[in-house]
Amino acid sequence: TKKIGVLALQGAVTEHILSLEKLGARATAVKLPADLDGLDGLIIPGGESTAIGRLIREQHLEEPLRTFFEAGKPIFGTCAGLILCSTDRSHPTGDLRLGFIEMEVERNGFGRQIDSFEALLPFEGIAEPVEAVFIRAPYIQSVGAGVTVLATIDGKIVAAETDQILVTAFHPELTDDLAVLQYFLEKVNQGSTNGRTVH
Ligand code: GLN
Repeated sequence: TKKIGVLALQGAVTEHILSLEKLGARATAVKLPADLDGLDGLIIPGGESTAIGRLIREQHLEEPLRTFFEAGKPIFGTCAGLILCSTDRSHPTGDLRLGFIEMEVERNGFGRQIDSFEALLPFEGIAEPVEAVFIRAPYIQSVGAGVTVLATIDGKIVAAETDQILVTAFHPELTDDLAVLQYFLEKVNQGSTNGRTVH
């Protein structure tokens, strides 16, 4: 069984852990650098990206997260986690951007009136449309080379990936539909042999 960490500084942490356990994975909360040891993959959850970024710095997790990324471990950023994983520089502020996946992001991109909504979303690589819950969600304005778009809504990109990184603008852990989390677990399972010769 693979062991997945969920960054547990702020936001939708418990829901991710319960959903991962339903899928048969081992899931653990990550609050300190040492909690990253021995993980096969990591989820950076939704919440508030400015707050999570500030807490990452306060807990001295920025460098350990970068080391985890450089080790080739799969990472899944949902909603605020998507913003944190991006290289976005469209709104230059002091906010943390880990730069794990090249994309420009529009924060709160669906407007203030439409605070939250649900959609049945066609998703590349998943046979059935997925139940997607959007809460003050960002969307992806553009992606860099090597980034594949997985889902759009009204022409706005809401899911994308590289070999290593998965991001969704929605919360896959807030419905009973576990297909997107399953999709991430498959990435984790493939990750163990990526780039290596198996004898
Ligand atoms: N609007 C939040 C932000 O900008 C993200 C919302 C979410 O994660 N559900 O960080």
